Amino acid sequence: MTATPPTAAACGRPYLDALEALFADMDDAYRCAASHYGFHCEGCEDNCCRTRFHHHTCLEVLYLREGFSHLSSGDRSAVERDAGVYSADAAQRPAKGRGRMCPLNRDQRCILYNHRPMICRLHGIPHELHRPGRPPARGPGCEAFDRHCGHLPYRSFDRTPFYTRMAELERRMRQAIGFSDRVHLTVADIILLP
Ligand code: SF4
Repeated sequence: MTATPPTAAACGRPYLDALEALFADMDDAYRCAASHYGFHCEGCEDNCCRTRFHHHTCLEVLYLREGFSHLSSGDRSAVERDAGVYSADAAQRPAKGRGRMCPLNRDQRCILYNHRPMICRLHGIPHELHRPGRPPARGPGCEAFDRHCGHLPYRSFDRTPFYTRMAELERRMRQAIGFSDRVHLTVADIILLP
């Protein structure tokens, strides 16, 4: 169970500005690594938007909801309807992994691309993570990456500085507003928040 995250007004725009800067740096690093491999996501037959990701920061929730609030009322209604179906399906089939398409994916495109959460920006290419006191962890690329570029030698893509900046920004924002509850939400959950 997750408490309802704070509103954007409570959080304050400077935190969301800092998140935008962080996301821009993530996008640059991802683009650079992906172009090194010649890897492109367009027309992917697997579509990671069917993966049931959970998101864990208030900042991602607030930023996505900010983007959602700027959609037309028709788009918001359609997304809310699909988010309801998605959530009902997730409740019936709680196993992780692939499932229904994310309710923000319309006609094979993310309609809130600029506001998408962190994992949507980093997923797809092989990466590494460095945790204090532990050996570096390597993570694989997606299935499409393996098919098209899996034969190529690994090119360093370190998620650590991005996770660290995100955690620090989230920590400061939570401390400023006094919010300490756990966040564990799918995009559909975020759309359906009151
Ligand atoms: S938020 Fe956008 S990029 Fe992320 S899973 Fe949903 S449709 Fe795909």
